[in-house]
Amino acid sequence: MTALASKEDNDTVAQALATGAARLREAGVEAGRRDALLLLATALGADPDMLRLRPERRLDAVERSAFEVLLDRRAGREPVSRILGTREFWSLPFKITCDTLDPRPDSETLVEAVLTRLGDRTAPLDILDLGTGSGCLLLALLSELPAARGLGVDISEAALKVARENAAALGLGRRADFLCAPWGAALGGAWQVIVSNPPYILSGELPDLALEVQDFDPPLALAGGPDGLDAYRALAPEIARLMAPGGLAALEIGTTQINTVETLLRAAGLAEFGRERDLAGNWRCLLAGNAARPVD
Ligand code: GLN
Repeated sequence: MTALASKEDNDTVAQALATGAARLREAGVEAGRRDALLLLATALGADPDMLRLRPERRLDAVERSAFEVLLDRRAGREPVSRILGTREFWSLPFKITCDTLDPRPDSETLVEAVLTRLGDRTAPLDILDLGTGSGCLLLALLSELPAARGLGVDISEAALKVARENAAALGLGRRADFLCAPWGAALGGAWQVIVSNPPYILSGELPDLALEVQDFDPPLALAGGPDGLDAYRALAPEIARLMAPGGLAALEIGTTQINTVETLLRAAGLAEFGRERDLAGNWRCLLAGNAARPVD
């Protein structure tokens, strides 16, 4: 009788969602209701869409406290992807940890830019990803290019551990190698495709980033030095040296950096530039080739 009474006192899904969403909005989370739904679904081990269909379902005490724990983390501005430990990129699931940048949909611009410029997607290709993080760029490309092999380089051994796990989980481990090194310094060879999403945030702009980014993305993956260009200065000569004749490089850039980064790459001897915008209409991807290849 008592147990029944206390169960009836428990929140329904609809009530938990309403109070959870209000709590998140109060903490400054923009999409409070969507995030509350995702976290509630996680606490209940349910699919978010199924949950929407059962607003009257009651939470038991364990579910209620599991939801509270997840809400606390989100109210502390930890992104949902980090709380769940996974992020979808190029429609593939990627594990992420505190050692990897949380892959952004904007970075899919690079994958698409490369794929549309490759003539034959079944040709054998060597792909180099400098600053691979979770491995998202390299592994998304390998998932589309069945005869390609790739190397993901990162200065963080902890990030590489995640990238290796992602490669294995996606069934791409036999075509992906990983190496701990500063950019391309330790490398030789001639690579047909070079991609990189380096840190490019100006030191002075780091404090203006959303708390989800500032407090949870690894600083190593964000901080581009006083003018945001430190990584591109290091990368430009390495990309020029490591690119196969007729090769293609695709670099992610900050919204105002396209002309400056193009100048740096040109000074390093690269030629033939192309550019692509992200979904918000900002220039997000700079493409470069060498004299042997027209990029666009
Ligand atoms: N795109 C990320 C942001 O704007 C930054 C990632 C990077 O510096 N490469 O938060």
